[in-house]
Amino acid sequence: MYKTIEQQVRRNIAPPALRREFRQHDFENLHSFCLLIFVVSIGIWLLFDVIVSYLGQQDFTWISMAFITIMVCMTIILAFIHKAGHFDILNLAFITVITLAMRLVIEGLPVGLRPAWLVLGASTVLYSVSVLPVRRWSFFAVLVVSWINLHPFQVPGVRLFDLRGLMFLCYGVFINGLIIYTYLKMRRAKLYNFYMSKVLLDQAYIDVLTEIPNRRSFMAKAQTHLQDDDVQHRYLAMIDIDNFKKVNDRFGHDIGDVVLKRTAANIKASMTEFEYARLGGEEFVIYLWGVDQADAERRVDALCKRVREDAVEHPVTISIGLTRILHDDNLTNALVKADEALYQAKHGGKDRYVLWQPV
Ligand code: GH3
Ligand code: MG
Ligand code: MG
Repeated sequence: MYKTIEQQVRRNIAPPALRREFRQHDFENLHSFCLLIFVVSIGIWLLFDVIVSYLGQQDFTWISMAFITIMVCMTIILAFIHKAGHFDILNLAFITVITLAMRLVIEGLPVGLRPAWLVLGASTVLYSVSVLPVRRWSFFAVLVVSWINLHPFQVPGVRLFDLRGLMFLCYGVFINGLIIYTYLKMRRAKLYNFYMSKVLLDQAYIDVLTEIPNRRSFMAKAQTHLQDDDVQHRYLAMIDIDNFKKVNDRFGHDIGDVVLKRTAANIKASMTEFEYARLGGEEFVIYLWGVDQADAERRVDALCKRVREDAVEHPVTISIGLTRILHDDNLTNALVKADEALYQAKHGGKDRYVLWQPV
């Protein structure tokens, strides 16, 4: 089964909407990690800048101050960014600034040390960006910007085809290849995992036939609601299709399925703001909150009418048991009360709702 789902996932991994959702999800997950990387990068750069300023041939000038100010401002902006697309741009801008700042520090080193530090700097930046949640275009733009700002051939005396130049070139190609490959592979694996967990979650929490939430989903959501919602305004409605067995017996199971889907669609359309689910068989449930009794009764009555008047090929009616969820009720006994009210609705002639009353 897992293999079958896996194959289906591998075939469908490309839809743009899914990729968009994944990018946003990935960025939200890693937002604080991105902040950490920005802060640590500034910290490390500052440490090197101070060392080179005091032990090297450079002073700590206003240019360093300007770089710090810009980078800190970008980090503050990052704290307020919530869209993955904005991060792609901000990160590119940050890399442009920090690589220029790194070049400034490296220019304070003795000439012989500079090429190696430039290559080291560019590789470190690229590695860090490869683990951030950036899109492909942004990653490759970072790659280009980093090497433009930090390539070793800007140092006087380093030529492409002498010993040092060729060694730097070979190392650069190797490290870039490795980082690009890891970035693309990791990204694909993360996208695949995201899609896989989405498919599995859907299958675990959505009813296959009616495509509305199933019992498991309802129990989890209603449980959370019960803890949060205003005690005065919580209602539970249990719904059962009337004489459904006859539909199956007369028209066959397939038509029965069509009726189930149609009823689910009616519930979904009239209860969009509430939690609803197919409990099993031809039974459904709705958890209503933020409504008073008159409102709750009006809503379930309207649902009965909607199903009754949805006079397509195989018309059916529904019965509903409605109960208020009292202060000391848990989900299980609220369901029992709704079921008792449903029983009364069936015995009262079906195609109606009954509000649970204490006996
Ligand atoms: P009442 O008005 O008292 O509710 O009578 P009823 O016939 O609706 O109730 P009953 O519980 O006897 O019948 C429910 C039927 O629902 C029996 C079962 O075969 C059918 N059923 C359960 N799940 C499905 C399903 O997924 N598809 C179809 N087509 N039928 C289903
Ligand atoms: Mg039933
Ligand atoms: Mg029934």
